[in-house]
Amino acid sequence: MNKILYLVVPCYNEEQVLPETVKELTIKLNSMIDSGLVSDKSRMVFVNDGSKDKTWELIEQYHQENPLVLGIKLSRNRGHQFAVLAGLMTVKERCDMAITMDADLQDDIDVIDEFVKQHYDGCEIVYGVRNSRETDTFFKRFTAEGFYKLMSGMGVDIVFNHADYRLMSRTALDALENYREVNLFLRGIVPLLGYKTGIVEYARKERFAGESKYPLKKMLAFAIDGITSFSIKPIRMITGLGILAFLASIIMVIYTIVGALAGNTVSGWASIVISIWGFGGLILIALGMIGEYIGKIYMETKARPRYQVEKFLD
Ligand code: UDP
Ligand code: MG
Repeated sequence: MNKILYLVVPCYNEEQVLPETVKELTIKLNSMIDSGLVSDKSRMVFVNDGSKDKTWELIEQYHQENPLVLGIKLSRNRGHQFAVLAGLMTVKERCDMAITMDADLQDDIDVIDEFVKQHYDGCEIVYGVRNSRETDTFFKRFTAEGFYKLMSGMGVDIVFNHADYRLMSRTALDALENYREVNLFLRGIVPLLGYKTGIVEYARKERFAGESKYPLKKMLAFAIDGITSFSIKPIRMITGLGILAFLASIIMVIYTIVGALAGNTVSGWASIVISIWGFGGLILIALGMIGEYIGKIYMETKARPRYQVEKFLD
């Protein structure tokens, strides 16, 4: 079997790493083509995400010189997730499988063979999962792992320590196309697709050159986007808080009655404090209930596909 593999690489201001990335990916792709693992129609596609430096000029130049290199130019910077999606959707019809990876060579390209083999073994989606974070700073490791824990705590089904280094087959890409949401969080959507999936472990390296385009601020925004796109748990928390406050007011009622029976009362205390907590609780519960409906409306507006038929024996 040798199917067509496309490597999809989003690039934002990556002029410093691009020459090395193109060089290494060319060697890799050629060796896979030569060994017959993938078809000679396989290509690498660089998606320029509105870079402000010479990234696009470089991509154009490599496209001239190197038959394996293709380029896609987005009209402006739309962020990593959209660059990945744009790349995948543009090449979908031409390939049998696509692997998305960072431009900075942080994702170990030596495991690409493993991705492809798992696909040949029947996996429609193969996740690259990093098995060590030794090269990360303590801060990056702490925030990144906190991110995955927070997400799963919020009920978002994501693969632990999987970023967007992943193989998707044509079938999986067709399914992905049905997700039309604008708040794009691919790591949350891909597990929703279903199909047989596999995992490839790899050690993530240090950025080859240049600096991370994901500063803490962007990472936080990304996490909030991920949670609010997939989970209405934050709304449920409001209801929970309301119930707690209401229970507190009931405890105060009991406390004041017991206090009154024992003979120590402060005039006016009970009526004011109990009504503050009682009504506070009721208002939060009401907000939470309204939130439940808004959450439903929100999920409906995403118009996600309700199912995906994998096989039909007719
Ligand atoms: N990227 C992009 N658009 C952006 C930000 C980043 O296409 O607005 C690309 C970037 O060029 C890289 C990948 O997304 O190929 C991951 O970014 P980066 O390596 O900076 O993130 P980190 O690995 O530090 O989390
Ligand atoms: Mg990186």
